[in-house]
Amino acid sequence: MTDDRRLDLHTHSLASDGRLSPADLVRYAREQGLAGIGLTDHDTTDGLDEAEAAGRDLDLIVVPGVELSSTIGNREAHVLGYFIDRENEKFRAALDDFVAQRHERVDRIILKLRENGVNVDRDRVLANAGRGSIGRPAVGWTLIEMGLATDMADAFNRYLSVGKPGYVPRQKLDPEAAVEIIRAAGGAPVLAHPFSTGDPEGMAKRLKAAGLVGFETWYGEYSPERRGELLAIARANDLIPTGGSDFHAPGFKSGRELGSVPGIPWETLDRLHAAAESIRVA
Ligand code: AMP
Ligand code: ZN
Ligand code: FE
Ligand code: FE
Repeated sequence: MTDDRRLDLHTHSLASDGRLSPADLVRYAREQGLAGIGLTDHDTTDGLDEAEAAGRDLDLIVVPGVELSSTIGNREAHVLGYFIDRENEKFRAALDDFVAQRHERVDRIILKLRENGVNVDRDRVLANAGRGSIGRPAVGWTLIEMGLATDMADAFNRYLSVGKPGYVPRQKLDPEAAVEIIRAAGGAPVLAHPFSTGDPEGMAKRLKAAGLVGFETWYGEYSPERRGELLAIARANDLIPTGGSDFHAPGFKSGRELGSVPGIPWETLDRLHAAAESIRVA
């Protein structure tokens, strides 16, 4: 018997750059007919208590997670962590540092935009940010409000992506270091949206050697063909295939609607949980 309960293991809330509170995200997931979500805010676990409480009320499984934004050169190599021990002190200290760097970076983005004649109001950007872990989308929403971009993809294309007038790189973090931070907190590390790295297969091998356990295969923005390629790489490298939409808000970006990614096996939860348990006893 296959278990047809539906999952979405990659979501963001107001704790970082998503637009729904953790409780509203859980309610919305329920409305979309999901039975479980992973909450994977950027560099923060602050939304997890609220999401888990809402999950208990609404009988929806909430997997505690996080997403760390590591890079290789100019490419993004994000690492998701599932079933992390969020009380772990080293882990908390690392996240606090990343969140502080995010605030400095947004100030530099605002300065850079001003140098390029785009006068973005800092208070407005902060009003468009969530509860702590700020990111480029806060600037993006502001540019949209100002009529300087039609939607988030346009805001990135015009101003916020690599090479554009408001681009400021993040502090360097190797994906190996991200994997290590998650493992130190007893979590199961998973490479997010592997095509962002430019070399999914090479990264699978490289990060498997560093302790990666999973590979995000059923990703919102990828075609069925690309998902098939990733599934083959996951299998060849003994990585758990996972999946999710990378939901931030309704209408944020095409392919990113909550629960929109089909075919994520329910057993993925057990596999990730077992992997995290074995990392803890090791
Ligand atoms: P940051 O963590 O500040 O670098 O911002 C990354 C966030 O911006 C992530 O949530 C991405 O999903 C989002 N993002 C990155 N590139 C784009 C893009 N081209 N269009 C829309 N959103 C994007
Ligand atoms: Zn985000
Ligand atoms: Fe990401
Ligand atoms: Fe994400």
